[in-house]
Amino acid sequence: MRKKIVAGNWKMNKNLAETEALLSDLKTKLGKTEAEIIVAPTFTNLYNVTEALRQADIKVAAQNMHQAENGAYTGEISADMLKSIGVEIVILGHSERRAYFGETDALLADKVNTALKHNMMVIFCFGEELQDRKSDNHFSVVENQLKNGIFHIDASAWKNVILAYEPVWAIGTGETASPDQAQEMHAFIRATIAKAYNDTIANEVAILYGGSVKPNNAEEIFAKPDVDGGLIGGASLDAESFAAIAKAI
Ligand code: PEP
Repeated sequence: MRKKIVAGNWKMNKNLAETEALLSDLKTKLGKTEAEIIVAPTFTNLYNVTEALRQADIKVAAQNMHQAENGAYTGEISADMLKSIGVEIVILGHSERRAYFGETDALLADKVNTALKHNMMVIFCFGEELQDRKSDNHFSVVENQLKNGIFHIDASAWKNVILAYEPVWAIGTGETASPDQAQEMHAFIRATIAKAYNDTIANEVAILYGGSVKPNNAEEIFAKPDVDGGLIGGASLDAESFAAIAKAI
């Protein structure tokens, strides 16, 4: 059985006090959910959040990581640094990293390797831009992002991978892929993995949808058979709406 996952990407939002307040609010509002819950605070808050969640059923992810083991990379964070404070999950390939920080598929392939080498769980993000969908190239764009960014890994490494399909045109725009559009792409992703690897891997990997998921649309998106949960941006910054989304699983 595939895992259901709801992950909140807090991006560059919330200072330490605000993060701690959001977390305690979330702990009380979350209640029972079938989903595994992950939160991704900014780097400066990772240690405190990891400590605060030691006894809780919420996991912590970093929003990014450098591919090198260590060295002269001013301002960067390594896998070992993350692991040393108890962070076992990392988001890689978010569209904002690709668009604003020039992260290419090749660079992401390196980051994936480093994270897997450190036995971290990777949330690998990808998705087409609006012009790709308008020109009917969305399937080939997604296929290439997968082939060039993650299909080099060994079959045995897929147990450490979560995929997040995030059409760029739906991120932070208030525009969501329809449940049918999400299902169509998730089924395509699974078929592409089955072709490159095998049916077992394709059926076992969790594929999250991301792009303006809110309490009012989460349930119908999550109801689709190939959608295993969501990567949530804006709505995860409010405990009540994040909890409502988590309960929509
Ligand atoms: C995201 O940034 O991964 C995301 C899905 O953002 P939002 O939910 O705000 O569209």
